[in-house]
Amino acid sequence: MSEAKAAIGVDGLQALIGALAGRGYTVLGPTVRDGAIVYDEIAGVADLPAGWTDRQNGGRYRLERRDDDALFGFAHGPQSWKRFLHPPVQTLWTARKNGAGLEITPPKTPSRKFAFIGARSCELHAIAIQDKVFLDGPFLDKAYAAGRRNTFIVAVNCGEAGGTCFCVSMKTGPKAESGFDLALTELLNGGGHSFLAEAGSEAGAELLGELPKRPATEDDIAAAKAVVERTAGRMGRSLQTDSIKQLLQDNPNHPRWEDAASRCLSCGNCTMVCPTCFCTTVDDHSDLTGSSATRVRKWDSCFTLDFSYIHGGAVRRSGSSRYRQWMTHKLASWYDQFGTSGCVGCGRCITWCPTGIDITEEAAAIRTAGTEESNGGT
Ligand code: SF4
Ligand code: SF4
Repeated sequence: MSEAKAAIGVDGLQALIGALAGRGYTVLGPTVRDGAIVYDEIAGVADLPAGWTDRQNGGRYRLERRDDDALFGFAHGPQSWKRFLHPPVQTLWTARKNGAGLEITPPKTPSRKFAFIGARSCELHAIAIQDKVFLDGPFLDKAYAAGRRNTFIVAVNCGEAGGTCFCVSMKTGPKAESGFDLALTELLNGGGHSFLAEAGSEAGAELLGELPKRPATEDDIAAAKAVVERTAGRMGRSLQTDSIKQLLQDNPNHPRWEDAASRCLSCGNCTMVCPTCFCTTVDDHSDLTGSSATRVRKWDSCFTLDFSYIHGGAVRRSGSSRYRQWMTHKLASWYDQFGTSGCVGCGRCITWCPTGIDITEEAAAIRTAGTEESNGGT
């Protein structure tokens, strides 16, 4: 990769967005809508959240103005890139009566190519986790594979840690180390506004070669390092991960599960915003004449009663069993299933939980309170 590192200006970022659009990509990036930062189609730098930052805490999210024009001066909003690679609603097939038989039509494989602008390091780890689920398991998800194969990723190293972020303790950020085509670090100093750009693939190096740029200096590289070091030192939360799998699997009846359930609304928000949660259900619809039917796949949540319905009733009837299922899967049994944690420390489930239930606080409480034997559990 000849153009491994270079400095580009805001004009270079504009040229990057234009070059990706020119190559047929649907360019997606952060933009402000409805009081939040969301991912949507962007036509240029003017669509980015210039001068905005986010303040996040348990059950709380607000946008505030910054005192500079940073384009990526926030952590992230409720959405993740999951919604493009693993859409919330997807048609699996349609069927039409054809004489005495049925004609089944599979959905068209999506042909859109996505370019993600501004993916955070934790989000790259989340995409890698979903790759394991949809690409590396015994059953390949064709729609996911088609979208993923055509994705160009521009990562942006974090210059702001959200109040609920804990990527440092999950070893998933704040610097993007792999899984990107280009990585940018936004540099705002002395009235200047530039980006240290680093190629992570041949496609990224080729594109960087086309942009207006100058060679990266030692000062640019040191400034970029300082940005991620400062962010790493400002994490809003941390999670102690040593022996977490054993800790949770040894405590299925710990009294903390009931405590969490007394605050949990079973709304499923935490699973909807989580960039790694992948569970789905299927709905069948037929028209009024009974001549055609459609099967649709939709995101589902382990917090619903229906989710664990097996013949005769739901397996997880109590709120405590559902919260325990979600958190123990994320932090413990995910290792058995996929070889990694199911949590990348993005903090979305904490911010977007209406009652502010905090996965780091719940794990710490179980660790501090000791095993269920010492609490009288069975
Ligand atoms: S469990 Fe929470 S902190 Fe972890 S990846 Fe999911 S939303 Fe982010
Ligand atoms: S933990 Fe919070 S976000 Fe998740 S289901 Fe319970 S109330 Fe909803």
